[in-house]
Amino acid sequence: MNIVVLRKWSPTDKAELIALCNAVDRTYLSDRMPFPYTEEDADWWLGMVRLNEGKNGVFRAITVDGRIIGSVSVERNSDNRKEGELGYMLLTEHWSKGFATEAVAQICEIAFHELDLDKITAKVYEPNIASIKVLEKNGFIFESHGVTADIKQAVKRSETPASTTIIAGPCSVESETQIIATAQALAKIPEVKLLRGGIWKPRTRPGAFEGRGEEGLVWLREAKHESGLPTATEVATPDHVELALKYDVDALWIGARTVVNPFSVQQLADALQGVDILVYVKNPVSPDLKLWIGAFERFQKAGITRLSAIHRGFSYYKESPYRNYPMWEIPIELTRQLNVPLITDVSHICGNRELLLPTAQKALDLATDGLMIECHINPDEALTDALQQITPEALKSLLASLTFRSKQSGKVERDLAGLRSEIDDIDSELLQLLARRMEVSSQIGEYKKLNNVAVVQMDRWKKILDDHVSTGAEMGLSPILINKVFEAIHQESIERQSRIMGND
Ligand code: PEP
Ligand code: MN
Repeated sequence: MNIVVLRKWSPTDKAELIALCNAVDRTYLSDRMPFPYTEEDADWWLGMVRLNEGKNGVFRAITVDGRIIGSVSVERNSDNRKEGELGYMLLTEHWSKGFATEAVAQICEIAFHELDLDKITAKVYEPNIASIKVLEKNGFIFESHGVTADIKQAVKRSETPASTTIIAGPCSVESETQIIATAQALAKIPEVKLLRGGIWKPRTRPGAFEGRGEEGLVWLREAKHESGLPTATEVATPDHVELALKYDVDALWIGARTVVNPFSVQQLADALQGVDILVYVKNPVSPDLKLWIGAFERFQKAGITRLSAIHRGFSYYKESPYRNYPMWEIPIELTRQLNVPLITDVSHICGNRELLLPTAQKALDLATDGLMIECHINPDEALTDALQQITPEALKSLLASLTFRSKQSGKVERDLAGLRSEIDDIDSELLQLLARRMEVSSQIGEYKKLNNVAVVQMDRWKKILDDHVSTGAEMGLSPILINKVFEAIHQESIERQSRIMGND
């Protein structure tokens, strides 16, 4: 059997490189490669390779029995240093022997390792079935949207960290065929670890579909057996807990509308006393961190040890493109105070399909431990939350488009995001204080006008500033900062008062 060996290019390969580039079939090659391929072209390319090898790309000759039969490379993307693009070519007489598949497998491993990439992309002309197969065999997944009408893009990620949990499944279990078909399709996606399905649906208004209840649990259990995926459902009352356990549901989640009510949470905790089951606690609908933490404490007291948080966004007065406003600082603060894994339910945050990708990416950038994504075999026909559900196929391509970061870099981002949101809050307090400060200055202006007092009283101001400088020094603030800030504030106050007194 012929063995494919990738080796680095050397200046002595020039003649073979020229021969290769002139002989190779160009039907599907990028126009970037000149034809005829001259000595200068080869000199330029070998020089470029020497400069960039191991830094901005990995470039290899594909050899069999010591002869160069092709070329393969992954070049780092200049806009995103964690992404690279695959390119390869192989002499026609060596097609269909598995050589390209093998060369792509090897270069991907080298590129992930040497360039520390998160993902590798590849562009393919739609009719190039052989290349499409090579990529698919190597675990590349085609994005649903093409680059152009006839060019498709495929993506291969460095392995999703095993600790990233993807929970997927329909908003509601609707029928036996719906849940089984959805589960079977989801089971083919390796990242999916848990099948969700709502059995009792909390609806805003009565009369809408409120879930299948007990018969739905029978189907959910069947779906588990057919697909091999463990299952999760929402429980809101002790009766729900009893039935879910009776039908071997593997994990439970407490919904946002339940977590707002400590009476309900306590009843659930009591019902779960002594039960060894995984419990996910969603954030309450209102942005109330204490209430969320309180729910965890109730379950902890009941002896539940396997607890995780689900962030699903908050009802909020601000207009926003989200169904539930994410307010990322709240889940970040939760994980600072409680040592629990955090799952982001992007479906209920977004409420639509379009925002799922950027929101999931943001969650991963903030080191979320997993994602909950509603998937339905036929989302448009879903009885609940049709607008936000996606097909298992779309989930596959969504996952392929995401960049899974190392937990370490994510943690750094998460800590930074927490600190940044603290800065935002402080800045907004500073602004409010400044506004109040100026308001009082104006009142003083009115008073001075009434009593015919001069605007500037230099002695008083000098003393105040000296006091501020020494108090600031005790707080670790430099005299330069204090002088600058208070001079600016004082100046603005004088201008306001002068305007009021008509001296302007
Ligand atoms: C759900 O997950 O289907 C659900 C109702 O979620 P939430 O409690 O977050 O609204
Ligand atoms: Mn839903």
